[in-house]
Amino acid sequence: MTDSSLYPYISKPGRYLGHEYNSIKKDWQQATCTTALIFPDLYEIGMSHQGLQILYHLLNQEDSFIAERCYCPSKDIEELLRQKQQQLTSLESAKPLKDFDMLGITLPYELCYTNILTILDLANIPFKAADRDLSFPLLLAGGAGAFNPEPVAELFDAILIGDGEEAMLEVAELIADNKKNTGDKEFFLAALSNIEGIYVPSHFQPVYSDSGKLTEIKPLTQKEKVLRRFLTDFERIDHLEKPIVPNAKIVHDRLGIEIARGCTRGCRFCQAGITYRPVRERSVEQVRKLATKAIGDSGFDELALLSLSTGDYSCLEQILPELMNEFSEQYVSVAMPSMRVGTLSEPIMDQIKRVRKTGFTLAPEAGSERLRQVINKGITEEALLDTCRDAFSLGWTVMKLYFMIGLPTENDDDLEAISDLVNKVRRFRDAGGNVKKSQVKVSVGTFVPKPHTPFQWADQLTIEESKRRIFLLKDILPRKGCNLNYHSPLMSYMEGVFSRGDRKLLPLLIEAWKLGVRLDGWTEHFDFKTWQQAAENIQLDMDSYLLGYGLDDTLPWQHIDTGVTTDFLKDELKKSKVGTYTPDCRYHKCSKCGVCDFDTILPIVHNKKKFTELDDTTTPEITPPKERVETPQVHFKYMVSYSRQGNICYLGHLEILQVVFRALRRAGIETNYSQGFNPSPKVSFGPALSVGTESLAEYFIMDLVEPLKDLPQAIQLLSSNLPPGLSVTDITPHTGDIPQEVETTYEITVPIELSKEHQNLIKNFLETDEFNWTRYRKGKKKTINLRPLINTIELLDSSKIRVAINNSAGQAGIKPQEFTKILFNLSDDDLLQIKTFKLGWHPIDK
Ligand code: SF4
Repeated sequence: MTDSSLYPYISKPGRYLGHEYNSIKKDWQQATCTTALIFPDLYEIGMSHQGLQILYHLLNQEDSFIAERCYCPSKDIEELLRQKQQQLTSLESAKPLKDFDMLGITLPYELCYTNILTILDLANIPFKAADRDLSFPLLLAGGAGAFNPEPVAELFDAILIGDGEEAMLEVAELIADNKKNTGDKEFFLAALSNIEGIYVPSHFQPVYSDSGKLTEIKPLTQKEKVLRRFLTDFERIDHLEKPIVPNAKIVHDRLGIEIARGCTRGCRFCQAGITYRPVRERSVEQVRKLATKAIGDSGFDELALLSLSTGDYSCLEQILPELMNEFSEQYVSVAMPSMRVGTLSEPIMDQIKRVRKTGFTLAPEAGSERLRQVINKGITEEALLDTCRDAFSLGWTVMKLYFMIGLPTENDDDLEAISDLVNKVRRFRDAGGNVKKSQVKVSVGTFVPKPHTPFQWADQLTIEESKRRIFLLKDILPRKGCNLNYHSPLMSYMEGVFSRGDRKLLPLLIEAWKLGVRLDGWTEHFDFKTWQQAAENIQLDMDSYLLGYGLDDTLPWQHIDTGVTTDFLKDELKKSKVGTYTPDCRYHKCSKCGVCDFDTILPIVHNKKKFTELDDTTTPEITPPKERVETPQVHFKYMVSYSRQGNICYLGHLEILQVVFRALRRAGIETNYSQGFNPSPKVSFGPALSVGTESLAEYFIMDLVEPLKDLPQAIQLLSSNLPPGLSVTDITPHTGDIPQEVETTYEITVPIELSKEHQNLIKNFLETDEFNWTRYRKGKKKTINLRPLINTIELLDSSKIRVAINNSAGQAGIKPQEFTKILFNLSDDDLLQIKTFKLGWHPIDK
């Protein structure tokens, strides 16, 4: 939680409020190890990340450990923190990051690396591990980017490679013990490197030839390679049952349940397909139990079944109808965001659409059959077309297709094939009878060769060639019924540089950050010219990182061992050249990638029998859903009065709506729902309050399916399910009619001393009949007489007034802060510092 006095000056203050439902604040006095889990991107991205929440839950489950969170601040608040010389703090207890024993930093993707520097700098922590002694927190990184951590390796004391659930607890225990032992840092790092999966960058030394070519990664201790950590049994680890429920809007605003980890379909460009091997499925019983518990504890209205390829979960045909049967009555939809062509069958779509038509993207990746064989995609055009036709005929109006350009061996014929394929899909738009609205959305990204994949040695397209291919696609794709989106070739270029880079990139990162690059993952902030300038300043040739590696070259990441052998990767590369298919080892024989020891590490597939003798493109059979029987709605309406005090007043109106819907769901108060494709709870809210205004007098009217038996108990129940700052004050039966004309009273504190002159301004205003004010909004000018809108103004003390304002539905009104500014002729900066408190309202009796 950042200093709340900054909130009026920034956009989306909801990102920094903390106090979300299910977030945990513990007593620091009792803690033996405190960890700040940091996601180096904005809150809305970081809060959508499952891994961080799992570690948060596991660490906090231990009585003596504390885990709190911190996300990267946006540019506006970064600037303010610097101006005010304030440090970046955790969300839960507003502790400076420097006060923690450990900072656990996720490395989710390359374009967030400069954000790590922003965070460290705002925390007054030196960037390089070598410049920090034991008085600083231990900096531990982990996540997908850890499989080639070299560009950022020297920032960290240690990097966790692979599954973090068990290793994170072991690191926390070691930190707790080390406090008693008080050894030196080297002694501590040596102990740390004994934990399976822990890489200590200072224990390895890259060696370069005179020409600057990497020739060796020299181990400086006994540990020659770092084998990734494997979580062999998913069921043993507690999944989070009480997910943190965000107050502010986030990107994936739903409950995610990881139903399986790993995918062995064997796409040759896919890093996750290698680094998460083997497949480990969660049992149907556990998925069911977790879903019921976590939906009840969170109030989310969407459950996403997560895995690298959800459709490949072997028990999908059992669990999906079960979940839908349980949740459709509660209007909770089930989403499967990562479906593979061939697994998204008509019966599955029939299930998905039972509550809301949650979206999905199909990823053929390549347009031609030939190129799909090169990449081992294993999907046919026929299967793709069947899926698209089914989706359109079942009422989906948007079909999203994802392709990559620049895959090894791609030529212009393959791009023509993308266009042909899209044309064929486009023809199915009339299958749902809504040809005008229906659309094929094509997304294109430039292929970035990733470490540890069979294509890790490949070239990446230059920016110019990437642009040429995108423009070619633009030319040849159909115009009507098709929309092309593409990922910036400049951003892909930087991803390519850092994805296969080495330690020489850290000076580039620091230089670019010093020159001002921030939040590179956001197109509106990404600044390629400054990156070029930084490279020029330190005389680094970024283009060289896009050139391929020779098969015998030393690779910057070769001391990181995923368990998959280099021979397997080379063999896959060879097979790609002739388009030989490697089948999925879940249902076919082992392809000897090297990961499994078949003792503790082996694929865990619960329903293997079903697929064993079938082709792995066979889609599972699903029992068709029962038709929903629409019973006539009965209506029991209540007005709920509530207060909104403290920092929660910095949430926007739409965010408050979502908070209330989820609280009603958690409290088990069942509302009626609107009909149609996107049912929503029948709850109507009073007028929207400005962000930053506190209130004792908010209300909403809820339309329930049954009467509330005990109103005092309902008040208590609903209050206890709201986040701090929101509290129910009354619930009364109601007609449902919202008053059209009301008088609202506010107490307003101004940032100036109110003098005699201000008293005269009040007096003059009250004595006149006309006080015209000209408003400019969206380029339009409107003159409003403010006098009839204001009933009373009272001076309370030298900085406070009380104002009663009339509001009529559909008529121009005035916000209390705006009126105060006009009345006293205050500046824009004064306006931001005005504090408004809504005291009450009542309908105006005509
Ligand atoms: S070792 Fe065999 S079974 Fe295990 S993940 Fe690799 S290919 Fe699959």
